[in-house]
Amino acid sequence: MPQRRSRKRKVGAEIALLFLLFLGLCLCLLLLSRQPAGSHREEASPSSLPVLQTTVFSTSTSSSAAGKTASASQDLPSEAKSSDWNLVLVNRDNITEEMNPNLATIENITLDSRIADQATQFIAAARAINAQEHPISGYRSVAYQTTLYNQYVQQEMTTRGITEEEAKKVVETYSQPPGASEHQTGLAMDMSTVDSLNQSDATVVSAVKKIAPEYGFVLRFEKSYSASTGIEYEDWHWRYVGVENAKYMTEKQISLEEYVAQLKAAGK
Ligand SMILES: [Zn+2]
Repeated sequence: MPQRRSRKRKVGAEIALLFLLFLGLCLCLLLLSRQPAGSHREEASPSSLPVLQTTVFSTSTSSSAAGKTASASQDLPSEAKSSDWNLVLVNRDNITEEMNPNLATIENITLDSRIADQATQFIAAARAINAQEHPISGYRSVAYQTTLYNQYVQQEMTTRGITEEEAKKVVETYSQPPGASEHQTGLAMDMSTVDSLNQSDATVVSAVKKIAPEYGFVLRFEKSYSASTGIEYEDWHWRYVGVENAKYMTEKQISLEEYVAQLKAAGK
């Protein structure tokens, strides 16, 4: 029995030893298998890092750019489109054929009938500021503008003794060539306290300018707009653009050219 027991013990010890060896072998294999896996991750990390950074950078750049565009387009009047009838651009870069708007008579002038009510109210409001405020010119056809322009050119040639080309340059400092005058839209009105350009009291002009957007009008040729309009300051030329557009343009201090460009840039 004791011999059998010791044999059994020996066999048990051998099994335990084998088991321990097997366990040790398993541990070694496990450690070996972990090593390359770990090194692979370390290799992968630095190479993937710039990719991650680039991704993060480009994402943040595009999201901030999108944010700016979104805030700019959120800022723009929601209903406004560059193709809206009241935002039509007529200038030397946008020579336009006869537009033949439906006209309504307002005092001594005619304007596009769609703005008759607001123009009437605007004139009344301006008159409340200064009783001398009165409309001077409204709608002018391209044909009439052509006659007017040619008359001015002839006058300048005669009085100054200059060539036709020279005379045109002089005339274009105060009159638009045919097809380039906003008066053909029926949306522009010259209104002042006096019948001469830039001779009205500046404080009156300033006061009228403040109330103009409430009736959908803006002073079209502000001093600060001349770079974008190509026209020198005019204290009497009021342009109808609609209340929302007028308020936005006045608040942002931008010309119609700049406003239409902003709308187009926003895909509107
Ligand atoms: Zn005018």
